[in-house]
Amino acid sequence: MPVRRLVPTQEAADLLDLTRELAREELAPRVVAAEAEACFPREVFRTLGRAGLLSLPYPEEFGGGAQPAVVHLQVLEELAAVWAGVAVGVSVHGMSCWALATAGTPDQQAALLPELLSGELLGAYCLSEPHAGSDAAAMRTRAVRDGGEYVLAGEKAWTTHGGHADSYTVMARTSPDRSRGVSCFVVPAGSAGLTADRPESKMGLTASTTATMRFAGVRVAADRRVGAEGDGLPLALAALDAGRLGIAAVATGLAQGALDDAVAYAREREAFGVPVIEHQGLAFLLADMAAAVETARATYLSAARLKDAGQPYGQQAAIAKLVATDNAMRVTTDAVQVLGGYGYTSAYPVERYMREAKVMQIFEGTNQIQRMVISRELARGGRPTTTVTGA
Ligand SMILES: Cc1cc2nc3c(=O)[nH]c(=O)nc-3n(C[C@H](O)[C@H](O)[C@H](O)COP(=O)(O)OP(=O)(O)OC[C@H]3O[C@@H](n4cnc5c(N)ncnc54)[C@H](O)[C@@H]3O)c2cc1C
Repeated sequence: MPVRRLVPTQEAADLLDLTRELAREELAPRVVAAEAEACFPREVFRTLGRAGLLSLPYPEEFGGGAQPAVVHLQVLEELAAVWAGVAVGVSVHGMSCWALATAGTPDQQAALLPELLSGELLGAYCLSEPHAGSDAAAMRTRAVRDGGEYVLAGEKAWTTHGGHADSYTVMARTSPDRSRGVSCFVVPAGSAGLTADRPESKMGLTASTTATMRFAGVRVAADRRVGAEGDGLPLALAALDAGRLGIAAVATGLAQGALDDAVAYAREREAFGVPVIEHQGLAFLLADMAAAVETARATYLSAARLKDAGQPYGQQAAIAKLVATDNAMRVTTDAVQVLGGYGYTSAYPVERYMREAKVMQIFEGTNQIQRMVISRELARGGRPTTTVTGA
């Protein structure tokens, strides 16, 4: 069943039509082979960039789409319903632009953003380290000032697009202060001393390359530091709030894809002389899956409306990421169940969906960390507010 969406403008409706068309014509024919062969689809990102889909949340003056989060996220959801790994990449690319777009100087923005937003350059976001994932402030990668440059030394683990990206947004320590001692740098690929390890061998999202990036005395011009010294962690965490909404939308799209495949199969497959969807025990499983997908969508859109209204939305982004990814795990697992033995084989994509859902409970803050974010906000005891957003 086609998803019934509400968008604010005809332009947004056209954008979603374009996304569905690109997903059908550019993503669907490639996904199975690329995932089976762990082949990173660099050309697909160029195509999406030229269509304007890599720049949606950012200002028009740098080539952005200036779309509200409620539209941008639904675009991500449509991409993820066909190829979750590409949708994750689009979300991460957007995170890599966040610091420049929100804290860059006009010169930095004019010099660096247009090529990133057009998709000619692909971005990566480097926060995690081998010993510092959930506890990002424990990072050890250092950036030491040397005249008009910084010298970066250390390693960044789990970098999505590691080795393929053209631009790395890197958090590195400029002082020992745990949370105010981190700064943000935009490091070009090809810098001397910057190398990528062999990509990780993963359970899913195999076409989305993940690699450790090594910084062996990488020299970066001081004008590639974004924000003041010490602003890096707040910038990284703000990008993560937006990124968590992206992952919530991606998880919802993945779950929608699994639901669609499960329903199509259950309408065709017969047991005891009738399509299996006519057995109430299975039909109710499908009904619960549909409710889980719709709940996830409503939750991320609710957080998106806060973001669009310029309200704080960190707690709601954490809730959306938690709900959407936990629901996606359940829905994709149940989709395997609906297909019976065939669901457990690679003849159908549902086993891949299940493997892809698992990592969404882990990256951009594990779901344990989302619960910490949510419960800390509860402990702070914020008061309810009402904001009027329209006439
Ligand atoms: C495919 C993939 C892509 C990724 N892409 C990127 C990327 O592009 N850029 C980037 O910077 N990072 C990226 N990451 C890293 C990702 O964000 C981290 O893996 C994640 O934050 C968890 O960190 P960790 O793996 O070190 O787990 P750990 O922090 O070691 O956690 C281990 C376990 O302990 C739990 N835990 C830790 N602390 C607490 C606590 N206080 N309370 C309760 N439980 C706790 C965790 O929930 C987890 O279950 C990626 C990871 C993967 C798998």
